[in-house]
Amino acid sequence: MGLNIHQIRNDFPILRQQVYKKPLVYLDNGATTHKPKVVIDTIKDLQELHNSSIHRGIHYLSEQMTIRYEEARETVRDFINAASTSEIIFTSGATGSINAVAFSFGEKYVGEGDEILISEMEHHSNIVPWQMLCERKGAILKVIPFNNRGELMIETLDTLLTRRTRIIALTHASNSLGTITPVKEVIRRAHERDIPVLLDGAQMVQHGEVDVRELDCDFYVFSSHKIFGPTGSGVLYGKEAILEELPPYQGGGDMVEEVTFDGTTYNTLPFKFEAGTTNFMGAIGLASAIDYIRSVGIAEIKQYEEELIGYTLHKLKGIDGMTLFGTAKDRISVFSFLLDNIHPYDAGMILDKMGIAVRTGTHCTQPVMDHFGISGTIRASLVFYNTKEEVDMLIEGLERTKQMLT
Ligand code: PLP
Repeated sequence: MGLNIHQIRNDFPILRQQVYKKPLVYLDNGATTHKPKVVIDTIKDLQELHNSSIHRGIHYLSEQMTIRYEEARETVRDFINAASTSEIIFTSGATGSINAVAFSFGEKYVGEGDEILISEMEHHSNIVPWQMLCERKGAILKVIPFNNRGELMIETLDTLLTRRTRIIALTHASNSLGTITPVKEVIRRAHERDIPVLLDGAQMVQHGEVDVRELDCDFYVFSSHKIFGPTGSGVLYGKEAILEELPPYQGGGDMVEEVTFDGTTYNTLPFKFEAGTTNFMGAIGLASAIDYIRSVGIAEIKQYEEELIGYTLHKLKGIDGMTLFGTAKDRISVFSFLLDNIHPYDAGMILDKMGIAVRTGTHCTQPVMDHFGISGTIRASLVFYNTKEEVDMLIEGLERTKQMLT
């Protein structure tokens, strides 16, 4: 059965809005997604009636909030099919999760002359924390290139993987090219050499099923706000055996067992990695968003988006002067392009006045822009609440922009 788009759009109050007296056409979901009413209501309800700090109180509200928080952990575990809730750490988002691994794993396992392998299509969030680690430790950052279609050149792994490689950090789906990377093949090759792999799922979890056990990745990260949940919350998944060995990356309340001035012993997993008062409402909001998309149907969402991808590509390619960046076969509904020699900012501003929200610039992937020798692109990123009619409006908007600027 297909999706009931009318019903789904009704679930997202913001989509009913007009901007500049035009219906909002929101195509900037790669940056952040909107929240269904059930998520908004969950947060409102928590703030109004249930606010209380988790894990520390013995009173009613605190106990109830703790139960909800730990239930949220179970929801996330089930969603990505992790083996245990000990493997689910709540963080501030994908960026927070990657920084946590880069610091903690880096402290323990990376030394001078060791190598970290990332790819040329990473978001800055999956570049800079590793560069900082390399600077601290005197390690070396190496990069898997992509070809002009935006596909990862995994044949280069034969030479890039060495006995000094300590970890591979790779995006599961690119936020500027739309490419889904061949993660299973990369993981297989890495594991042949006992090298762990971190996957950045910030642009993947909202588009289809993710099964960390089937992938066999060692770490998986994502942000709540890109999967219809609240901002400031996210997930770090790590295999229990690896997490057990890693040192905490932040000290504070809740992550400890015993504290004296002579020394401190740490709490068990996952709490060892959750110092201080966490964003517990964000985590519960994320669980509510996961429940929502599961009620819509992950397989149905994927099927609908595949149709939307085919339609959008066909329409974009029909525009004279269109250059698409990222034409990999295996892809998500993210489209980067340039139109004639129109500056992306100019196009973005004109589209905005038509009520169409797109992203312009480097999309925090400057090396991707450098690869193509451009300063930025226009990016339309769609999710399951977007429609073919909205794609038509984008196409019409682009045609009008062309008439105005060329
Ligand atoms: N990784 C990818 C692929 C992204 O697209 C983004 C955000 O755009 C991030 C990481 C960082 O996410 P956040 O800013 O929510 O931490």
